[in-house]
Amino acid sequence: MVFLSKLHLRSADQGFWEVVQRVEKRSAEIAAHPFRVLLEDKSGTSARRTVLSTEHGEIQTPHFFPVGTLGVVKTLTPRELHESNVQAMLSNSYHLYLRPGLDILKQAGGLHKFMRWDRPILTDSGGFQVFSLADIRKVHPDGVRFQSHLDGSYHEFTPASVVSIQRHIGSDMMMVLDLCPPYPCSHGQADEWNRLTTKWAKMAQSAEQEQPLLYGHRQNLWAIVQGSTYHDLRRESAAALIDLNFPGYAIGGMAVGEPKSIFHELVPLTAELLPKDKPRYLMGVGFPEDLLRCVSWGIDFFDCVLPTRNGRNGCAFTWNGRVIIKAARHKEQFIPLDAGCACYTCQTYDRAYLRHLFVCDEMLGLRLISLHNIHFYQDLMRQMREHIEGGDFSSWLESVLPRVEQKDS
Ligand SMILES: [Zn+2]
Repeated sequence: MVFLSKLHLRSADQGFWEVVQRVEKRSAEIAAHPFRVLLEDKSGTSARRTVLSTEHGEIQTPHFFPVGTLGVVKTLTPRELHESNVQAMLSNSYHLYLRPGLDILKQAGGLHKFMRWDRPILTDSGGFQVFSLADIRKVHPDGVRFQSHLDGSYHEFTPASVVSIQRHIGSDMMMVLDLCPPYPCSHGQADEWNRLTTKWAKMAQSAEQEQPLLYGHRQNLWAIVQGSTYHDLRRESAAALIDLNFPGYAIGGMAVGEPKSIFHELVPLTAELLPKDKPRYLMGVGFPEDLLRCVSWGIDFFDCVLPTRNGRNGCAFTWNGRVIIKAARHKEQFIPLDAGCACYTCQTYDRAYLRHLFVCDEMLGLRLISLHNIHFYQDLMRQMREHIEGGDFSSWLESVLPRVEQKDS
């Protein structure tokens, strides 16, 4: 009997420790990435210097994520992104779910290995793409049904399935499935979608706890504040999501066609509602002047297709505004895009040659301007970090804004 009870005790003990270890492992998996506010701007704005630590490296903020929707920052290699000082990039759940699909991502060992990018990745949930790209969508209380924009096939996203997609991708920061109201949107509709976005955020959190990590590294799930252009709804959305204690907060539904005046009113208002000790991410924004202003309102993270999309259309962003390279006046300009830029394009080529490439539809032209734009955006963010640290961010901002806003330099 004694022997038996000892055996019994030992196995009960083992069971207990296994449970403790499992719980500890789960807690470690869903623990927040360390995030520190290094300093707040002392020159009169709400800008701040922070650092987010992931298992793929640190991200110093303010930071801009170049967009690699399909697992590639269009036309550029990870080596070129490294050389442009890109600390972290963004990819997209909707697109990667459709192509290459979850099975291939899992076989590859996740997106980092698949695309040979060893730094942090943030993935958007796909909510925005379902509404901007997919053909037919039906919102129901537990998710959204849609037709692929590629072949018309039917699919359904739920808060849990979108977490599963991001587990397969292995992104360091995952986003919850949300409903992004179009502009304009009635108060009633925005209110209804807000409630669903909050409900889905809770469902996504449960899914995060239930679904194990596939590749070992920690993944955090961030929430998205919605509420269209309505102050009361922005406040309600932020309050409800803050109650759920996410490790990071995004502001969604901005830059969706609303007038600039509304953008300038809502971003600072919403940023102020967010916890000071958590990352703040403004989704889908924007032009260099937008980034400068939004950093002054307290935003830490940004993403946007502009540097690469406009780059492929021959629009370069520089410290002296946009350069439209196809313009006839660049035909004999034997000067770089931006004399102050250290990128390969500016160090090697002049505007006349870049214009020639665009006029002849040569692919190198798209690559060279994309490369410059990615480098310029990272340089812009680096200089913002330096001026916040230097204590002169506000006066520097005033001097640099009118220059970068010029339409064709
Ligand atoms: Zn350059």
